[in-house]
Amino acid sequence: MSEQTVDQEYIHVPILVDVPYRFDAGKYMTRFLVELRDNEKIYGIKCPSCKRVMIPPRIVCARCHVKCDEWVELSNEGTLEAFTIMYFPMTDPTTGKPHDPPFSYGSVKLDGCDAPIDHMLNIEPDMSKIKVGMRFRVKFRPREERRGDLADIEYFDPIE
Ligand SMILES: [Zn+2]
Repeated sequence: MSEQTVDQEYIHVPILVDVPYRFDAGKYMTRFLVELRDNEKIYGIKCPSCKRVMIPPRIVCARCHVKCDEWVELSNEGTLEAFTIMYFPMTDPTTGKPHDPPFSYGSVKLDGCDAPIDHMLNIEPDMSKIKVGMRFRVKFRPREERRGDLADIEYFDPIE
């Protein structure tokens, strides 16, 4: 059998797909997002077995497989665990808009929590000015701009 070649141009069919959808945040995530939007409070959930405090809150601890139902109000301040300086545009998953590079991005573990939040850092994107262990504070968007999602946190501000 001889090898066949395709020497014709493929047909291109332009299709514009519009796929609106709603994501059901569920009972725990809804409470988390409502507190964020309406009260500028960040809540985690504590596992009754391993005592880890997790955000976003989960109904079941992934390690212990037990139901979690102890809500813990977290501090709006925390410690930088890791960071990067972004040199290419990153599309914000909550807004769909790109952030112009360069900018600082990091993982901040809020006091009283065992999981970090990855978010924008409001600090000059200079490797010599950012250090793991630095303290940061949550900066909430103005109330009229909050929508009930993680973008209600605008960024983390360094604490002087
Ligand atoms: Zn656990």
